Amino acid sequence: QAKQMGRNRYQLFDPKAAKAMQSRHRELERLRQALQHGEFRLYYQPKVNMRLGQVIGMEALIRWQHPERGLIPPLQFLPLIEDSPLTIDLGEWVLHEALEQIQQWCASGRPLVISVNIAAHHFQQPDFVPRLQSILAEHPKAPPRLLELEILESAALEDIRSMRGIMTACQAMGVRFALDDFGTGYSSLSYLKQLPAETLKIDQSFVRDMLEDPEDLAIIEGVIGLARVFRKEVIAEGVETPEQGLLLMRFGCDRAQGYGIGRPMPAEQVSDWMDGFAENWQWNLWMDPQLR
Ligand code: C2E
Ligand code: MG
Ligand code: MG
Ligand code: MG
Repeated sequence: QAKQMGRNRYQLFDPKAAKAMQSRHRELERLRQALQHGEFRLYYQPKVNMRLGQVIGMEALIRWQHPERGLIPPLQFLPLIEDSPLTIDLGEWVLHEALEQIQQWCASGRPLVISVNIAAHHFQQPDFVPRLQSILAEHPKAPPRLLELEILESAALEDIRSMRGIMTACQAMGVRFALDDFGTGYSSLSYLKQLPAETLKIDQSFVRDMLEDPEDLAIIEGVIGLARVFRKEVIAEGVETPEQGLLLMRFGCDRAQGYGIGRPMPAEQVSDWMDGFAENWQWNLWMDPQLR
């Protein structure tokens, strides 16, 4: 009788759930195929020091060059693979690709730092450190100090002790860290103190409304102050206008990234973009002279 009740209460075969599982399975399969067929591309978005007018690095941002649907942005496919093994395969592909690019740029006299976004699931693999070490070893002409890993502040908070251990081991190889989307993860000050990341990356949601919303501006000021106290670098993302850039500089954040400075672009366009930036940059000239 209990068995019968059980049957009624928990349906063993739910056609809706089965269908959803099937379609997820198909999507994963298609993405795995895309990786095998070389359909992913890295785009590069500049990071600059606005005050000095210098390029400080490039963030690698993945896109899927779909044969029929065109260029697909990461938030349309990364969430589908989030906790699957494909996340790790794709993450390792990104690392290889970025290190190849570092080698190429070094060979042509442009030793640029490349920042790579690492998914929490990937970063938390027990063999992350030795795997990274072997990927670095496969690219002997890419200096590890030119590789920066961006991890989400929220992910870094999940298991602070193991996080700290992995970060320290990577840093011992020369790799640096930035805490991405900083300000959205509710870091307590004592947590921040334990995280050895070199850089805090102010989330773009605060930058977007910083001119209209005093609370967002206060958060930005707070993060800049934290960075100062903890002796970390700070960079703002999502800077679209000179007004935002000027205000950030006034508050002591000289580093930035955003559409107003440079959009993500294929590697082949980076050299021309850098030449243009060197010639045309003028936000630093617009600053109040006594702040310059
Ligand atoms: P993120 O790392 O925080 O990257 C910033 C996102 O904001 C990028 O979107 C970038 O193109 C966009 N962005 C940059 N400047 C501006 C701006 O001025 N205004 C606006 N509205 N947006 C701006 P994208 O390329 O679509 O990437 C979205 C997210 O996907 C990234 O956020 C990152 O979390 C993830 N992602 C991208 N590439 C990779 C990757 O290779 N691996 C992993 N694990 N995640 C990645
Ligand atoms: Mg990022
Ligand atoms: Mg971000
Ligand atoms: Mg983000």
